[in-house]
Amino acid sequence: MNFHVMTLFPEMMETVLSTSILGRAEKRGCLGFTVTNIRDFAGNRHGKVDDYPYGGGAGILIQPAPVVDCFRAVSEKVGHPCRCIYTSPQGKTFTQEDAWELSREEDLIFLCGHYEGIDERALDICVTDTYSVGDYVLTGGELPVLTMIDAIARLVPEVLHNEDSNLFDSFTDHLLEYPQYTRPEVYEGRAVPEVLLSGHHAKIEEWRRKQSLERTFAKRPDLLKEAAKAGELTRRDLLYLSEIGWWPDEEETS
Ligand code: SAM
Repeated sequence: MNFHVMTLFPEMMETVLSTSILGRAEKRGCLGFTVTNIRDFAGNRHGKVDDYPYGGGAGILIQPAPVVDCFRAVSEKVGHPCRCIYTSPQGKTFTQEDAWELSREEDLIFLCGHYEGIDERALDICVTDTYSVGDYVLTGGELPVLTMIDAIARLVPEVLHNEDSNLFDSFTDHLLEYPQYTRPEVYEGRAVPEVLLSGHHAKIEEWRRKQSLERTFAKRPDLLKEAAKAGELTRRDLLYLSEIGWWPDEEETS
C-alpha cells in the first residue's frame, strides 16, 4: 500500500515514516511513502503559498493554486483515481474501523493543512474524505496525518510480524485489551497474575476475556453498548458483565 503526503513541512514526516515498524515495512516493500512539498508548486521565486483571508479575520490561509497543482502532480504519478484525505478538526472523528476500511486501498493521498487552513476551493477540488483526530486544534495536519498513516499501515498485511499482532488490539471487537506482563515474574513486590504462568490456555483465555470486559466497563462503557449492539458479546460475557454490574439496554440486544 502506498501513502502520498502533501505538506509544507516534509521534514516533519520523513523521520517518523522511516523509523521502526513503518521504516522496516517500507524497506521490505510492504509500504511505500512519497512526501511532496506543496511549496514546490508556489509559482513564485519566494516560495510564498499563503495569504490573508478575504473578509478579514486572524491568521493566514494556504492559497488554492499550489495545493491543486501539487495534487494534480501527485495524482498523475499515482496513475489511477484514488482517495484524497484532508485532516481537519471539522472532519469525522477517525476510528479503528476507519483505519481497517482505509487499509484496503492501494493508494491514499493525504493533504496537510497549516496556519488557518486551506482555501475552500482547493478542498472542493481535491478532497474526497475529511477526518479529525479529536476535538482539539493543532497547528497543522502533519501530526494527524502521521497518526492516521501509522494506524492504517499496521493493518496492511505483512507489515506486522506475529509478535506485533493486531488481532487482539483494543477496539478490534469494541473491547479494550486485557493487561499484559513480561519478565520479571515479580517486580517491586508485584507478581504477574498466577493464571498467566499456569500454561493452561483455556483458563488464560477466560481470564483475558474477563479482564477485557472489566476494563471496558470501567474505562469505556460506551464501547460495551456498541459491542452488545453488534452482537459481539457472548451469553457468558453478558453473565459476567451482569455479575460486575453492567447490563445492556433492551434495544442493544434486540
Ligand atoms: N481554522 C481551522 C478550523 O477552525 O477548523 C483550524 C486550522 S488548524 C490551526 C491548522 C490545520 O491543522 C488544519 O487545517 C488541519 O489540517 C490541522 N488540524 C488541526 N487540528 C486538527 C484535528 N483535531 N484533526 C485533524 N487535523 C487537525
